Amino acid sequence: MKKNIIDSKEVPQICAICSFGTELADGSGILCKKTGIRKPDSTCKKFEYDPLKRVPRRDPVIPNFTAEDFAL
Ligand code: SF4
Repeated sequence: MKKNIIDSKEVPQICAICSFGTELADGSGILCKKTGIRKPDSTCKKFEYDPLKRVPRRDPVIPNFTAEDFAL
């Protein structure tokens, strides 16, 4: 199951959402427990997905409908 989520196109395998990485205080990089300081968009073969670090997509903007939009 976990393998399927990681292999999907929606979850990129980058340090920013890896369980071994911690964002630096200034936000310029990731401190990795395995390899040291990395760029947020870099990756390696030890990547382990942490779903709590993923930033979800924003909700779509819902247009304002009026009663005329639903009239026949
Ligand atoms: S270098 Fe590898 S193990 Fe470290 S945070 Fe990035 S993907 Fe994860």
